Amino acid sequence: QGDSADFDSEVASVCPFCGVGCQISLKIKDGKVKYVEGLDGPANEGRLCVKGRFGFDYIHHAHRLTKPLIRRADAPTKGLNVDPANPLTHFREATWDEALDFAAKGLSDLGGTKVAGFGSAKCTNEEAYLFQKLIRQGFGHNNVDHCTRLCHASSVAALMENVGSGAVTATFNEINNSDVAIVIGCNPTENHPVAATYFKQFTKRGGKLIVLDPRGQALKRHATHMLQFRPGADVSLLNAMMHVIVDEGLQDDAYIARYTENWQAEKDHLADFTPEKMADICGIAADDIRAAARTFAAGKAGMIFWGMGVSQHIHGTDNSRCLISLALMTGNVGKPGAGLHPLRGQNNVQGASDAGLIPMFMPDYQSVTDDGVRSAFTEVWKSGDFSAEKGLTVTEILDAVHAGQINGMYILGENPAMSDPDVTHARQALAKLDHLVVQDIFLTETASYADVILPASAFAEKDGTVTNTNRQVQMGRAALDPPGDARADWWIEVELAKRLGLGWNYTHPREVFAEMALNMKSLDNITWERLESEGAVTYPSLSPEDPGQAIVFGDGFPRTDKRALFTPANVIAPDEAPDADYPMILTTGRQLEHWHTGSMTRRATVLDTLEPEANCSLHPRTLRELGVEPGEMIRLTTRRGSVEIMARADRSVATDMVFLPFAYVEAAANILTNPALDPYGKIPEFKFAAVKVEKAGA
Ligand code: SF4
Repeated sequence: QGDSADFDSEVASVCPFCGVGCQISLKIKDGKVKYVEGLDGPANEGRLCVKGRFGFDYIHHAHRLTKPLIRRADAPTKGLNVDPANPLTHFREATWDEALDFAAKGLSDLGGTKVAGFGSAKCTNEEAYLFQKLIRQGFGHNNVDHCTRLCHASSVAALMENVGSGAVTATFNEINNSDVAIVIGCNPTENHPVAATYFKQFTKRGGKLIVLDPRGQALKRHATHMLQFRPGADVSLLNAMMHVIVDEGLQDDAYIARYTENWQAEKDHLADFTPEKMADICGIAADDIRAAARTFAAGKAGMIFWGMGVSQHIHGTDNSRCLISLALMTGNVGKPGAGLHPLRGQNNVQGASDAGLIPMFMPDYQSVTDDGVRSAFTEVWKSGDFSAEKGLTVTEILDAVHAGQINGMYILGENPAMSDPDVTHARQALAKLDHLVVQDIFLTETASYADVILPASAFAEKDGTVTNTNRQVQMGRAALDPPGDARADWWIEVELAKRLGLGWNYTHPREVFAEMALNMKSLDNITWERLESEGAVTYPSLSPEDPGQAIVFGDGFPRTDKRALFTPANVIAPDEAPDADYPMILTTGRQLEHWHTGSMTRRATVLDTLEPEANCSLHPRTLRELGVEPGEMIRLTTRRGSVEIMARADRSVATDMVFLPFAYVEAAANILTNPALDPYGKIPEFKFAAVKVEKAGA
């Protein structure tokens, strides 16, 4: 905390880490962020977590890229062999003109379907929109995707199918009006910490909290029911809970009759899923399953929150289908205190998806296969048609590189050399590319494979809007100039597009936002000027004065006859069962102090001081059986590879499980993960792999 004497200026913006979207005030002194305070934003009401309050000085880190770089002709073979502190061993500095000409020529020489793009959920809505436009307009196809594929693609697939919209039906703050809530497959105190404060307050007011997770967590202390079920048993558990509701007649028949379809099929399907039959599969006593089901069904208004523990499975879409069915059968959509809320991960993954940074949808989830949709966009873009075929997803694009079908990529702000499953395969694909353009603020693991690197801007160095997990479109504002010759991402995209002959002439993100609004109904009544003065507007907004709808679908769903769909879900086993060679279960995730692949938070002094070393967690009994003391090194081996890492004792981890954060390059979790995909969302099974655990050096 400070007073105005502490800083030269203060600028309102939005935290760049998680999807909660806390509004912040950046206090600037001598051209640097001196400290940050929470603002009274609609999602955070002044609150911040440790990342939002102390995680900003990566912006000023000595590793920031400040000049465009081109790979030297005599550089060593491509690999993770570049020191981010000294990139000139492999690259030479270039002017912007030279670097942009080189980047554009390499991509256009390959041309068409030989080129694909990964955009970023860390960039603004305008930058995401421009990125998908550049690939579609410039190369004529839809091979453009981003990290939504790795987090909630399966949740979005289920939501689109069953309620007709991929976003949350109620803000997380709506829990203020709930009397019961389910938190499943997520650990909000670490991953959405400010949202977790609302969940804890809800229990203090007497709200009943049901936590369902294979791993224990801090919210357990606040829960009325904690069901620590076996990894991968989500569908069995949720179907058993729904069986109880039907068996005991606890469903909301009036709601089901008025707002849903396919109920009879769902009901028939659930008949077999008795708690007694599912108890062993789930590792939960039948009575505990019954008690949790009764508590949820008895609530007057209930919310369901879920995270990647639900979505990152080959049955991720089925998991979400169950959650949607549970909400529908209890009438818990479209009224105060009720709703479905997949807690989005990245600060702008909702906005980047809304803006069309996905291979099957144009902005606002309008299908690329619809001729009318494409022509509405090409009319605005003043360009010819592009492919009506759905494009390839993140992992499919890298497979296509291995197959020689894609030879060039433009990657903005993503780090697939760390974030993709079976990352050795992903790194080999990056090394194989004939032309790789990477745009980022640091020389990431992915940038070390680049042919040309374009130095970009951190969030505090550019204007632009972002959309949080609550559907709140918020204004981020430039507080600083980018360092050296670094530039705002939208500027780089525009300059590249000019060199690809696309004739773009945007001079500010507000012009891009205005273009987006032409074909995005979600932005009706939301203008750049409104966002500048109000800071945030929730979509949908029904009038220029409406701050937006916190709850949607009170009068039916955007589907045929306004009815939501029940889709029965069958049990599908995880792709890789533990066996004699790999007897334990590996699951991956985040920690409170580090964000995703660590490129920002491991360069933030406070956060890196709190959590400086790669570590994984096992139950103390498991460590004892391995003859390992907490703090000693262990070796984890799966069918994809091996890493050595420091072990911690953690009673919240089941005895047959290892929890491995994915932020650490020195023990990259994704060397181990299984790339098997959910067939609908095409999301990899990050949450379950068979693993062998040994004492290192044994
Ligand atoms: Fe930032 Fe998320 Fe923490 Fe809020 S909860 S301060 S958005 S990391």
